[in-house]
Amino acid sequence: MPRNAESTAFRSALEVIRGVEPRVADAIGAELADQRESLKLIASENYASPATLLAMGNWFSDKYAEGTIGRRFYAGCQNVDTVEALAAEHARELFGASHAYVQPHSGIDANLVAFWAILADRVEAPALQRAQARHVNDLTEADWFALRRELGDQRMLGMSLDAGGHLTHGFRPNISGKMFDQRSYGTDPATGLVDYDRVAEAAREFRPLVLVAGYSAYPRKINFRIMREIADSVGATFMVDMAHFAGLVAGKVFTGDFDPVPHAHIVTSTTHKSLRGPRGGLVLCGPELADQVDRGCPMVLGGPLPHVMAAKAVALAEARRPDFAGYARQIVDNAQALAEGLLRRGATLVTGGTDNHLVLIDVTGYGLTGRQAEQALLDSGIVTNRNAVPQDPNGAWYTSGIRIGTPALTTRGLGTAEMDTTAELIHTVLSQTSAGAGPDGAASKAKYVLDPALADKVSRQASELLTGFPLYPDVELG
Ligand SMILES: *Cc1c(COP(=O)(O)O)cnc(C)c1O
Repeated sequence: MPRNAESTAFRSALEVIRGVEPRVADAIGAELADQRESLKLIASENYASPATLLAMGNWFSDKYAEGTIGRRFYAGCQNVDTVEALAAEHARELFGASHAYVQPHSGIDANLVAFWAILADRVEAPALQRAQARHVNDLTEADWFALRRELGDQRMLGMSLDAGGHLTHGFRPNISGKMFDQRSYGTDPATGLVDYDRVAEAAREFRPLVLVAGYSAYPRKINFRIMREIADSVGATFMVDMAHFAGLVAGKVFTGDFDPVPHAHIVTSTTHKSLRGPRGGLVLCGPELADQVDRGCPMVLGGPLPHVMAAKAVALAEARRPDFAGYARQIVDNAQALAEGLLRRGATLVTGGTDNHLVLIDVTGYGLTGRQAEQALLDSGIVTNRNAVPQDPNGAWYTSGIRIGTPALTTRGLGTAEMDTTAELIHTVLSQTSAGAGPDGAASKAKYVLDPALADKVSRQASELLTGFPLYPDVELG
């Protein structure tokens, strides 16, 4: 029986949980087993370190800490102050930012904090000023109505959803779409790349208050220096949402024009994607926006999660170590090897390749929808997700794309040779899957035909590929 510290910690924790509700302990154990077995290519997921995971399971969870360091609405926050200050310091040092706010519970929350800070900074509206001056609970209904009227015509220009933008960049299903009148910029239909001249043209016509750059499904880097020039030319605040690629910024793969921090007025991020920390968010900015950003809680956020801030401090400390740069480089090398392996076998990729951690396959080349491809891959032990491609003929639900990303497999230690094998497995499944028909014989966007024997064979090959790269090798739950 292994006696190392990590095994002991997790085994003991599960034993304690099992004493109260054994089904929860079982589910936690089953989750580890499932994660160990699956070839995880979900571009937004990763595996946090044992130290990061363990930092979340403790007494900090019991503490209320509304407010900011040294200015709390609750007594007894001295230890929360310590971990919040550490997380913020690591974030500032890691990204070269003058201010870091580490309370957001998620990427969406970080964006809300940023949007509110920008509105408060830029909009001279009486209702907004009143809202800023008071605690959110003290606002009357009339205040809220006035606020809605004032904010209703502020404008945001962001990347379109089908080009890889995010719902929180002013789209209807998210509150940002109600806070802002939004217009989006797409990508060049011929190359799939952002066309900066078109963005500049859209900015000149639309005159947004906020220009947003950042994406969840664009496989290329973005020149933030040019985007800032465009924002400056129309007097817009330039915001970058680096939720997906923060790890590549932290690991100095994205530098110069491609590092958002020196170019943007404000940068938001998640901490759990390529950055490999706990589930959470953060905001970076200069001194001009710092005061407004620090009002995030209680303005738009619920009470801070001190246990998660402790885990952010641990993960950000890890990202400052020299080996994180090697990890970030390997993420991109792996994505490029995967892209090349797929291209060589005949797949069609949006933009023809990648410069970051993700690859977007246009599966119409295989005669499939994204939904059919996603399910066929899942049957074969390969976890990906479907995603729209630019001007998607199948819409946002069925889609025509499969998004694959390398941060998680890179954490497990897989390299470029294994990415070629992965490309082979993906291509085999997609080329052997065909679109199915509905009960009436009409073509279906969801049904598909895949020989179960082939799916089994690929599943076995996928788990063989992983056997040399154990996940949490020092954790043995027994
Ligand atoms: C993932 C993502 C978010 C949202 O993050 P959550 O932590 O899920 O709230 C926001 N913006 C972008 C660009 C993302 O990719």
